[in-house]
Amino acid sequence: MPWIGVFQQADSWNNVVDTRATEMTNIAKVKWSGYILAVQPRIRLMRSFDQRQHSYHGYVLRIEGTYGDDSGEFLIAVGKSANEKHQFRVGMKLSGLAMPVPDQRLEIAGFYKTSSITVSKVAEPRISSSPPFNGVPPNLGTYRNRGHRRLDPRTYESKCNTCIWGCRMPVEITEDHWNPSRKRYRFETFCYGPKNCSFYKAGATRKVPGRSGMTWEEEDWVDDDATAHRGLDE
Ligand code: SF4
Repeated sequence: MPWIGVFQQADSWNNVVDTRATEMTNIAKVKWSGYILAVQPRIRLMRSFDQRQHSYHGYVLRIEGTYGDDSGEFLIAVGKSANEKHQFRVGMKLSGLAMPVPDQRLEIAGFYKTSSITVSKVAEPRISSSPPFNGVPPNLGTYRNRGHRRLDPRTYESKCNTCIWGCRMPVEITEDHWNPSRKRYRFETFCYGPKNCSFYKAGATRKVPGRSGMTWEEEDWVDDDATAHRGLDE
């Protein structure tokens, strides 16, 4: 089985479709185990021209370990209550059950519906003082309150994919609100971290397609506005 969802290309377009993939109801959960390499929030973004809305689903664990008979690096989606209970952080060894995500446009993780999590090695809950920042990620309300700035996808892949403030989001775009069943899908990367982080690079502005060939460009002021309540080192 391939490692689904681990190395998807950032900000790539997926096909335009009208319906989401059918739920894979008959697939049994498979046992996985390994060490946590990173914990990041599991947040989706819905765009409609200049409007955007987030939904907060939990966390994504980057695991080095085994899933079924395969071994390697993979991403496991977990709920917010699991994080409250286990306080996930880099270095923990754990196991659980999960199943493949049926629609890879909607999750960055390859596996979800995670259950029966057992922690066999606990790591120190230290937060690093320099980037990338590790430690136990905050609750999802903290991410919402902090707001984000766009993050260059190449910087995310090379420097930020183990930072608790980095987030790669599945994005669902409604081009025409008179025809809302027609969607586009892509992935975008963001930073919720301190504004003076030395790793930060904004990258190109994001463009959102709309009706009749129109395009909304999300300029710098959107990020400035979303994080204006935070100081440079917050
Ligand atoms: S730029 Fe953001 S996500 Fe990347 S290391 Fe710095 S705080 Fe973390």
